Amino acid sequence: MPSREEENNRNHGQTVRARRRNNRPHWRPSLSDENLNEPQPSGPPQKQYNKFYTISANNGCHLSSIDVIAANREIENTLKGKPTKINETRSGTLLVEVTNCQQSRTITTIKSLAGVPVTVAAHERLNESRGTIWYPNRPNYPDEDLLAELSQYGVKAVYRTKRREHGVLVPTPVYVLTFDGCHLPGHVAVGWTRCQVRQYIPKTRRCFNCQVFGHGASSCRQQTGTCVNCAREQHDLPCTYPAKCSNCKLPHPASSNTCHFYKMEEEIIATLRDKR
Ligand SMILES: [Zn+2]
Ligand SMILES: [Zn+2]
Ligand SMILES: [Zn+2]
Repeated sequence: MPSREEENNRNHGQTVRARRRNNRPHWRPSLSDENLNEPQPSGPPQKQYNKFYTISANNGCHLSSIDVIAANREIENTLKGKPTKINETRSGTLLVEVTNCQQSRTITTIKSLAGVPVTVAAHERLNESRGTIWYPNRPNYPDEDLLAELSQYGVKAVYRTKRREHGVLVPTPVYVLTFDGCHLPGHVAVGWTRCQVRQYIPKTRRCFNCQVFGHGASSCRQQTGTCVNCAREQHDLPCTYPAKCSNCKLPHPASSNTCHFYKMEEEIIATLRDKR
């Protein structure tokens, strides 16, 4: 039996070395990198359907407390088969992944499970995907115009990336597109320009308030900030104390990409990427 990696290599015509190189934890999306995500067949945009649904009890009860055998049978009868997956969430709702377009239509007809009235709704975040395109031709195109042009591919948001040059944010030719649906098309066309779509990989996220990885400052629960340079409580800038990382306590700023907390965060993101 070939291993999964060998199988992937064969599928993508990549050498083991190339694949390993792409899989290094410090790998970052860059314009010159070959995308390790399989480009999907191009052509007309694929028909998208919602794959992930939540089912919640109208009376707020945990669905694990109802007759789960009967409920599961009802779900399978309505869907005319098993869905790909049903998970119970901690809040007592069900997360259902359907296998096809037909199941996606019929699951919304479920009104009750084992006698308990329920609501079925498409999951907000899981039914979308993000990709990037490189479009240098018209640097001043307003995002709204691109959005209108790309809506035929199911694009529902366009975000132009920016980079910092001499302290000023400058727009780059890289756009992040949010697609309605779980599958990225291989290409999109802006006017007559065909742009390859690469999967968008979020950068490691460190909270600018408490310096901890994995959440943003807007959802931070720590009242007083932590200095990125010295790990003391937030103080007047610039910081003149010696560098000390608030995460690993070594003498570097918490923003250093040599920090092993940073590397760990990158591995987590790489894992999430490979799972998709
Ligand atoms: Zn925080
Ligand atoms: Zn400081
Ligand atoms: Zn550190």
